[in-house]
Amino acid sequence: MLQEATRDALPYTPEVARATHAAYARVAHVVPEIEWPVHAPYVKAINDLKREKNAVVLAHNYMTPEIFHCVADFMGDSLQLAREAAKTDAKLIVQAGVHFMAETSKILSPDKTVLIPDLEAGCSLAASITGADVRLLKEKYPGLPVVTYVNTSADVKAESDVCCTSSNAVDVVEEIAAEFGVGTVIMIPDEYLAQNVAKLTGVKVITWKGRCEVHERFTVADIRSYREANPGVVVLAHPECPPDVIGEADFAGSTSGMIAYVGKHRPARVVMVTECSMSDNVAVQYPDVDFVRPCNLCPHMKRITLPKILRSLRTMTYEVTVDPAIAARAKAAVERMLRVRPRADRKAA
Ligand code: SF4
Repeated sequence: MLQEATRDALPYTPEVARATHAAYARVAHVVPEIEWPVHAPYVKAINDLKREKNAVVLAHNYMTPEIFHCVADFMGDSLQLAREAAKTDAKLIVQAGVHFMAETSKILSPDKTVLIPDLEAGCSLAASITGADVRLLKEKYPGLPVVTYVNTSADVKAESDVCCTSSNAVDVVEEIAAEFGVGTVIMIPDEYLAQNVAKLTGVKVITWKGRCEVHERFTVADIRSYREANPGVVVLAHPECPPDVIGEADFAGSTSGMIAYVGKHRPARVVMVTECSMSDNVAVQYPDVDFVRPCNLCPHMKRITLPKILRSLRTMTYEVTVDPAIAARAKAAVERMLRVRPRADRKAA
């Protein structure tokens, strides 16, 4: 597929250089000048075609900087992107992310055409569980609410009472437990996220055996070695990391939570314990912060490239569809999550 997408490399002409000058200025801090002639023709062609087709590109925080900062219309975590997808007037959405994100966009925007540039851009968490698995869990634990991480297929969301993200998981667990009048919830599929959330709430959590193949690889020894090699470094970790890694970090939060932390505290030196493109993308925004860059790549996210985005727009591939009956049930679980109020609001109420 990559070959098909890249075999006709586009030329870097003076017109392309002029048209992409401003885009390069944005990423010059993280994209070497020698690489720009490879990216620039695609940046121009994609932006031209988006205008022609009234399309938008939604880019996840783990996309590479030439995608994230040069062709994306909306950037963020999976939930922010899906919300933007629902709000945009554009009828055509290209999801620069993985398949469950494109499904979530389709669930929230059933009338729009949603494309993913590579159908094999999956996710180890989404692949760890099926709708049938959730039905068995519900049979085993009748009466307990099912809280499902957004990193799941539409089938799994459809079997759930409510969805959550890594930024709102504690609030969702507490509110759904209160609504059901129970002290235990089923939280799927990420066992580390569930364990990390359980430590922050009085609610007991029954979990699943799913793991993010990127975040599960970080260890306490890694964190200690970052600190040793970079005295004073502030360690931010994603809650899909193992609980002992979270215990060693200075702050744990979602991708948007980590970005907010850097914006608020402006640490002199920081390490983001997450997928490696994240630091490049945030460094563009905060060039005064020194980012230590551990490099655990997500192979699924890295399937999405500029040539594949261009091909996607040109050929209208690959369209992501969701059975309307499943989409309606999945949407109800996502919308229930969107109604959950943050803990501070609930205490004040
Ligand atoms: S980083 Fe982890 S959770 Fe995100 S898509 Fe890759 S495997 Fe899935």
